[in-house]
Amino acid sequence: MTRVRWIAAGALGSLATLPLFIADRIVKKPAPVMEETERAPAYWMKTIPELPRFRPLDESINVDVAVVGGGFTGLAIGYYLKTLDPSLRVAVLEAQRFGSGASSRNSGGAPNYFRGHGQTEEAQRGYDLLRRFCFDNGLDVELEEQAPMITLHRSRDTAENPVLTGHGLREAVNSPYYDAAVEGISNRLHPGKLIAGLIEANRHAGVELYENSPVVRIQPGNPVWLHTPNERIIAGQVALATNAYTPGIGYARDRMFALHHRVIVTRPLTDEEWKASRLEQYPYRLEHGTFFTHTVRRTADRRFFYRHLLGHRSFERTDWTVTADDIAYGQEALLRRYPWAEGIPIEHEWHGVTARTRDRWPVAGPIDQGVSIAAGFNGNGVMATHYFGHLLAHQMLGKSHQDLGMLSPADAHPVVPGELARSIGMQPWLAYERRRDG
Ligand SMILES: Cc1cc2nc3c(=O)[nH]c(=O)nc-3n(C[C@H](O)[C@H](O)[C@H](O)COP(=O)(O)OP(=O)(O)OC[C@H]3O[C@@H](n4cnc5c(N)ncnc54)[C@H](O)[C@@H]3O)c2cc1C
Repeated sequence: MTRVRWIAAGALGSLATLPLFIADRIVKKPAPVMEETERAPAYWMKTIPELPRFRPLDESINVDVAVVGGGFTGLAIGYYLKTLDPSLRVAVLEAQRFGSGASSRNSGGAPNYFRGHGQTEEAQRGYDLLRRFCFDNGLDVELEEQAPMITLHRSRDTAENPVLTGHGLREAVNSPYYDAAVEGISNRLHPGKLIAGLIEANRHAGVELYENSPVVRIQPGNPVWLHTPNERIIAGQVALATNAYTPGIGYARDRMFALHHRVIVTRPLTDEEWKASRLEQYPYRLEHGTFFTHTVRRTADRRFFYRHLLGHRSFERTDWTVTADDIAYGQEALLRRYPWAEGIPIEHEWHGVTARTRDRWPVAGPIDQGVSIAAGFNGNGVMATHYFGHLLAHQMLGKSHQDLGMLSPADAHPVVPGELARSIGMQPWLAYERRRDG
């Protein structure tokens, strides 16, 4: 092709995307958290004593650091800022209840690796820090360490050095669906207990905690001005810990996108069901090799816990009304994997949202004048949120740390297509992947 043709093709290509670009700018996004009704608590929160309630911000305040978002990340940032420099005035503002986002809605796997980056020394340091945090604060988070884990593959093509294959595997996990498996070990914990511990540690350290205080406007600068519906906060610095909610508040919109999941938990299994489940031998299972991956784990009271992917919502909406179709799809996918589960009543179910980046690495570091961020944990945040919160606190206070090089700001990540384009493009892609799932 001649140079002129290349230029013409490029110009035509750009023109073709122009309507999407314009629409992306003019279509008004719904405010994320403001439109959500109070999130129903997940099973984890129902199995611990009720968390303390905190008053909404009802006066204007002036703080050294304001943290936006009160999940694992925001509570880690608040705690480490205050322990690194107890003289600071630090406030954490949570739109709903503390921990009510993904942090209380996950499967509780606490690996000592970062998604897609293997078991590195840095990851081990991250895991050790989380462990030490629990120990130092006297927390029992039901940590099961070095516990058996199995990675299940539908086809042997995607499994490296499988230890179980074919009929042997099908017997081992009582599933006709899988053809290869890699055995390993991992750690898991009770996410609700970790949230409760983080809240208590922040309170004890002297961090100010505000619930039902959504930040609806951020004016970057020195200082940064934050606005809740009725009050304002003047902050020397701001940390955004809003994970999948981040694009909705106008940051990292071209670097991350949200994916929605559903979790179901059965009633406690009878002895016979328990035997059929093989949860005694394989209590924690991850599925690999397909896009619509699933997680299975047992709970302390012998329930079958099952997570499946729902999909993507246009304009990065973070709520999801589970439809009859979603339920039917979930049921069908479950029974395809575990036919023995047919008819077992489901006692708990909930929705949760994760934030994905294209390189599967979190967005962390300065993002605007006076504003830093730690978000985009790619569905693998129980340990990573804690470590990135710890590292971001160091960076914001200008303190050195051997792993600060892991913080990677938004512009270091590959771009994801504009919001409208990806909202349109994502649906057929997910439909294709769902079909491929069988
Ligand atoms: C179904 C599911 C299963 C998972 N399983 C695992 C697993 O087994 N292992 C693992 O490591 N990870 C897992 N994850 C991922 C993990 O849960 C997340 O990475 C982690 O909880 C992210 O924590 P966070 O604090 O960054 O975000 P969140 O917990 O989502 O917290 C963000 C908070 O910000 C608040 N917020 C948003 N906007 C505003 C605003 N404008 N003003 C004030 N507050 C605001 C939200 O209300 C929310 O509470 C799973 C996630 C899901 C959904």
